[in-house]
Amino acid sequence: MAAAFFTSSSSSTLLFRRTATAVTFVALKQLGPCSIPPIHSPFHLPQRTMSRVSATHDEEASARAAATEANTGAPTIFDKIISKEIPSSIVYEDEKVLAFRDINPQAPVHVLVIPKLRDGLTELGKAEPRHEDILGHLLHASKIVAEKEGIVDGFRVVINSGATACQSVYHLHLHVLGGRQLKWPPG
Ligand code: AMP
Repeated sequence: MAAAFFTSSSSSTLLFRRTATAVTFVALKQLGPCSIPPIHSPFHLPQRTMSRVSATHDEEASARAAATEANTGAPTIFDKIISKEIPSSIVYEDEKVLAFRDINPQAPVHVLVIPKLRDGLTELGKAEPRHEDILGHLLHASKIVAEKEGIVDGFRVVINSGATACQSVYHLHLHVLGGRQLKWPPG
């Protein structure tokens, strides 16, 4: 009879492997390229972190699947959000960008900032000199979002670019995260 679950310390993640006769602690630097730092109550750690292990594999698999469609030019879910075909919780909007709450928040504040016109920016790795204006605009919009959400004193902006970074939607987007103490390094 064996059970395994993950918890975390400030700098590493610990694997507790409980057997009938022994408990083994294994320090892991990180879970994998797509792991998400634990953010919830310690009372929920065993259950939540076990599902995190399989979630990590799911995220990697879906990121790889999404990457195969990345350069087809096919519309993404974000096109439907921009056209308001599907609802979103909009935090900020101007003529160039839209900011809306992430459907799967990783922090009390988790807002996505996207260009309304993709213009080839499926991912940051595709950026070209002509994109300089919109890239700057997106960063400044992220700061406006942080102000609106009351987290301008401490927040993080993340861009996942490509499958290795677990990008899952191929329309450039900035994650604005805050509202709790953020840890470093990320997973
Ligand atoms: P990434 O993994 O960096 O490509 O981030 C894509 C993000 O889009 C994820 O954090 C998802 O939770 C988020 N997302 C996907 N669909 C929706 C949606 N319909 N509304 C809001 N956020 C979404």
